[in-house]
Amino acid sequence: MTTPFGPSYVRAIAPYIAGKPIPEVARQFGLDEARIVKLASNENPLGMPESARRALAAAAAELGRYPDSNAFELKAALSRRYDVPSEWITLGNGSNDILELAAHAFVERGQAIVYSQYSFAVYALATQGLGARHVVTPAVKHGHDLGAMLAAIDADTRLVFVANPNNPTGTFIDGATLEAFIAKVPAHVVVVLDEAYTEYLAAGKRYDSIAWVRRYPNLLVSRTFSKAYGLAGLRVGFAIAQPALTDLLNRLRQPFNVNTLAQAAAVAALGDAAFLERSALLNAEGYRTLTAAFERLGLEYVPSDGNFVLVRVARDANDDAAGERVNLALLKQGVIVRPVGNYGLPQWLRVTMGLADENAAFVAALERAIGAQ
Ligand code: PMP
Repeated sequence: MTTPFGPSYVRAIAPYIAGKPIPEVARQFGLDEARIVKLASNENPLGMPESARRALAAAAAELGRYPDSNAFELKAALSRRYDVPSEWITLGNGSNDILELAAHAFVERGQAIVYSQYSFAVYALATQGLGARHVVTPAVKHGHDLGAMLAAIDADTRLVFVANPNNPTGTFIDGATLEAFIAKVPAHVVVVLDEAYTEYLAAGKRYDSIAWVRRYPNLLVSRTFSKAYGLAGLRVGFAIAQPALTDLLNRLRQPFNVNTLAQAAAVAALGDAAFLERSALLNAEGYRTLTAAFERLGLEYVPSDGNFVLVRVARDANDDAAGERVNLALLKQGVIVRPVGNYGLPQWLRVTMGLADENAAFVAALERAIGAQ
């Protein structure tokens, strides 16, 4: 027998499961692509903003050249928006890139990373990819147990991931509770606060994590243009942290990790407050529609502050096949959502809020799928 390639911790990685693309579902189930509804990847149902589309067309003329490695324009725009120096900003090929960079920059093999059960899958992947130790604290009501996370930190811990709101559960930690937690995290541990869905928060729930970055040298805030800004396909995210952290991320990142089109579109989208507001309003309306339907159908759901909602499709406490079964019944009707068995939630499905007609199509398909159980 030959020795397998690669370290054992890399061979042990469970690959990320992405939402199924529309063409794949069309091929697999013999459906018309145009009639398929995809509510599986927490994308903005409005698509890309018109402002970004125009910026893309203009930037296309520059594609023979490398991107600006330091992304001067985008960093300057972010610097103005958040009132931090450009030197505090790191750009990523999506915020996924930021999460990976942070793990690589601050943790070495054998050291520990703390994150919560049911938190975003990339935390486990980044930990595993380093050969670091996973310290996973049990969730409470599907959300982070910050007390347990604090208690789990020891001398080997170098990083803590917190998602607020969290994916796939949509759970939210209020600002005061979160800041009290950050204040108690020992100085040798970096807190990566992943705010991929922060633009969807209702006005009363917003908090100023950038002000915390000024106070806590071990805090890194991660944001993305993939969700409310509608640019998921372009791959652009960013981190804000003090220079001691930012400097390390910048050394590790690929010199051209954010491409020319992504930089141009992100600048345009960042300035498009009207699009952001429309997106958040549409999302709130979609949440009301979906949760009202779940209540009518007697289905449990986890209250969500993101652009998606987790719904329990099992009627019977032991029915761990429910998620996959209902998912298949939905796929056959041309509706793509996300089964979350890989998160240890086999009785649940995660549904992204869509346009009004997409939400209606999902509810009708769900009713048929559940009725047929
Ligand atoms: N963080 C969370 C909590 C997410 O749900 C996602 C997307 N699924 C990401 C980060 C990464 O998104 P992106 O790389 O597109 O910025």
